[in-house]
Amino acid sequence: MATLVLKPDRDPTALAHAAALLRAGELVAFPTETVYGLGARVFCEPAIARIFAVKGRPADNPLIVHIAAVEDVHRVAVEIPSSFWVLAERFFPGPLTLIVRRHPSVPACVSAGLETVAVRMPRNPYALELIRLTGEPVAAPSANRSGRPSPTRAEHVLQDLDGLIAAVVDGGECEIGLESTVLHLLMEPPLIMRPGAITADELSAVLGVPVEYWRGSPTEAVPSPGVKYRHYAPNASVLLLPSWEEVRQWVQEHPEADPVVLASETPPEPFPLPVRLLQAATLYAEFRRADSEGKTHILVLYTPSVQAHPALADRLRKAATHTAEEGP
Ligand code: AMP
Ligand code: MG
Repeated sequence: MATLVLKPDRDPTALAHAAALLRAGELVAFPTETVYGLGARVFCEPAIARIFAVKGRPADNPLIVHIAAVEDVHRVAVEIPSSFWVLAERFFPGPLTLIVRRHPSVPACVSAGLETVAVRMPRNPYALELIRLTGEPVAAPSANRSGRPSPTRAEHVLQDLDGLIAAVVDGGECEIGLESTVLHLLMEPPLIMRPGAITADELSAVLGVPVEYWRGSPTEAVPSPGVKYRHYAPNASVLLLPSWEEVRQWVQEHPEADPVVLASETPPEPFPLPVRLLQAATLYAEFRRADSEGKTHILVLYTPSVQAHPALADRLRKAATHTAEEGP
């Protein structure tokens, strides 16, 4: 099966076509403001099973359910806490995923068997229109093979999944480029399972209670199973180095290596290697580019200002760490 590339900016029927495929139980990748998602109808169990199969995703890693209107949360969740409505009012549509209690009609495999469900309303207009036209919430993890960096352009989706899915809606580059903040609302206090563009301080200011980042180790019992896997990683080894001095030293000590440098600032003096911009929106694209060039190492200038960016620092640390239990 060839994967169709549907371009809604040129073809007015593109989103209706994509929605028809989703309704028929096919998989369709689509842009969101965070990364490209790989969508399936949430109530179609065989389609959900196909998501896990084509991604090579471990069955214990739950999917996020995408809705196009806040009230649609009632179709996928029950016993919705008041904190959900407070946060939805402020942050939906946007890069925030809220974990609440799963509606019994949502197949358990969507949530990897958990009693909870992760819900998000994306703000990309193509994503919203696609979900609306489908007429049902859409379960969608990132549209990459498991363990690869998330796609932020339609061509990244095709690199991983061409021929394995019915279509990709090409909406250009994702605005944010890193996955949503995942907040567990059934914990007290609410816990951020995955940092994203919306920070603990912003959430805490709206909720009026402290919001913490989950800091458990990857191997302990995890309330959000997906976080234990090594994610977001290119094939090249990622090294986090705190100063230009250490970058230079590493390069001198490894003359056989073929590295690229990612930095959010220019080097103090001319540098003998390619230096590319480190920023959230293009991090995954740079990972994929380094891999396509066959680079052996990605040296990241990991300054305090980079470390102060919770989502960017989290993805860099994950890419640089090989945990004991790796995702495939
Ligand atoms: P992805 O869809 O690839 O962006 O990954 C979704 C992430 O959301 C998973 O890795 C989990 O960490 C988290 N998640 C989704 N559903 C749940 C849930 N029901 N409970 C806890 N965490 C969840
Ligand atoms: Mg993912």
